[in-house]
Amino acid sequence: MHRLALPLFAAIVALVPLVPGVSVFWITLLDNIGLASLVVMGLVLLTGVGGMTSFGQAAFCGFAAYTTAVMTAKFGWSPWLSLPVALLVTGLAAVVLGLVTVRLSGHFLPLGTIAWGIALYYAFGKLEILGRHDGISGIPPLSLFGISLVDPRAAYYVIWGAVLGAAILTMNLLDSRTGRAIRALRGGRVAAEAFGIEPARMKLAVFVYAALLAGLSGWLYAHVQRAVNPTPFGVHPGIEYLFMAVAGGAGQVWGAIVGAGLVTFLKDALQRIVPALFGTSAQYETIVFGLLLVVILQVAKDGLWPRIAGLFPSPPPAPVDIAAEPLPGRARATAEPLLEVADIRKTFGGLVAVNDVSLRVKRGEIVALIGPNGAGKSTTFNLITGVLPANGGSISVSGERIDGARPQAIAARGVARTFQHVKLLPEMSVLDNVAIGAHLRGEAGFISGLLRLDRAEERRMLGEAARQIARVGLAEHMHKPAGSLALGQQRIVEIARALCLAPDLLLLDEPAAGLRHFEKAALADLLRQLRAEGVAVLLVEHDMGFVMSLTDHVVVLDFGTRIAEGPPAEIKRNPAVLAAYLGAEA
Ligand code: ADP
Ligand code: MG
Repeated sequence: MHRLALPLFAAIVALVPLVPGVSVFWITLLDNIGLASLVVMGLVLLTGVGGMTSFGQAAFCGFAAYTTAVMTAKFGWSPWLSLPVALLVTGLAAVVLGLVTVRLSGHFLPLGTIAWGIALYYAFGKLEILGRHDGISGIPPLSLFGISLVDPRAAYYVIWGAVLGAAILTMNLLDSRTGRAIRALRGGRVAAEAFGIEPARMKLAVFVYAALLAGLSGWLYAHVQRAVNPTPFGVHPGIEYLFMAVAGGAGQVWGAIVGAGLVTFLKDALQRIVPALFGTSAQYETIVFGLLLVVILQVAKDGLWPRIAGLFPSPPPAPVDIAAEPLPGRARATAEPLLEVADIRKTFGGLVAVNDVSLRVKRGEIVALIGPNGAGKSTTFNLITGVLPANGGSISVSGERIDGARPQAIAARGVARTFQHVKLLPEMSVLDNVAIGAHLRGEAGFISGLLRLDRAEERRMLGEAARQIARVGLAEHMHKPAGSLALGQQRIVEIARALCLAPDLLLLDEPAAGLRHFEKAALADLLRQLRAEGVAVLLVEHDMGFVMSLTDHVVVLDFGTRIAEGPPAEIKRNPAVLAAYLGAEA
């Protein structure tokens, strides 16, 4: 996003009502677009960025709208005083519903939001204090410095001021440590947890934030409409909000405004045009509206905003301060061996994937874990990093037991890994992907991200990421989407991400797969350097030349069982190892 885009947009928003010919009708339409934009911006974060589809956002508008309606129309509070109360009620409702909802996965999550969306709609319509289906009327308008904002033009400035404020906060958030963690949720929990991210907490935070934006919209709506009833807070409007998010481009803040504008405008235009064409009683407009949305989704699969943005030259990437002061280090583990795995066992049903395997890795040592496909190497990595619980045995890092610990706690002990099947966010830049590795070394939270109080730390995090990217030789690719790199290079990006953790123990699962000869040589150099720095490396690799020239010690697995261990020269001649490999070949 160009840095002039925001001031330009603000200027246009400010000038629109002053343009001759912009009637009250248009201003009212723009007011509605602004109100919807607020809700949809929350959905951008929730659905587009965080991957949680919600059909129930309209209900959160309802919580705030009804709260302020009761407080102001029944108890005579001033609208401004009822704003914090309305947001508090909405936020509390979001915490309760979020705790239930974000635990759901797959299609259960959207279904869950539909379920409580329907339930709340009927609750709004049944409660005596909320006026049942008639709702509450006689809500006072907003007023500012004693001037009542009944004129849609006055409300326009309040609404669009809120939209701009929300857009700024949301963009700040996306561009922060928390924002990267939220984006990481889409890549699945395993990769996120491996770098210390707490998916459940992140999801709940996003859920509450999206609900508060919807709440702000509901509060504004109540005082602009001066009356509320259950209709705008049901699942049907919830579906429309989701449509706006998708049509605009669900991952982008500006997409929210584009989507809200397009859908609101279309609906209004059709309500006027279609009855004129087909007669007033037929109500074909809903059908035409539905068909048009299908067409929009077909024409612009990623939404309209990326298309609009594509018309303008993309701004140069923000410069990264590669010389930024390093992030604080961790207390180093010193006791040897750094990693001690004793008799660990993992069964999947009747299959013994890891059969009482023991191994140890010291500081400044590269140990290879080799064996034919299906030998249990990746499963061993998953046991060490807490992705899978072991069925027996023990795992210690520097003498302290880590088996049974959560992946985040193990990462905090200085254990970093790469994945056999690359787990990067393909649309996110290499830089941002790698910076996720530094998550545990920063501490800026949600609020400091929103308010941009995190800039000093953020500069250091990105600086660290840039240094590690340069170290693995990918500096020229830093600003490209990770998915645009060759698969072999993506494995190297994962190594840079792991290095951002400042690991004591580095677990690499087939890092040389897909690399060309000179790239393998560079990787071997890097691993030697890390060894010299005292990092302990456990390496799964199939390229025997690579393994034998580099490692200090080799552990061989076959069908989950350790069949040999020793220095590379011995392993090369070991008859059991040769048989396992020849057997696998045959
Ligand atoms: P390697 O990495 O050595 O090729 P893995 O550790 O991936 O082998 O797999 C070891 C064995 O465990 C294989 O037979 C594999 O099919 C099985 N396995 C791995 N993960 C699972 C799982 N989550 N569920 C069931 N079986 C699994
Ligand atoms: Mg494997």
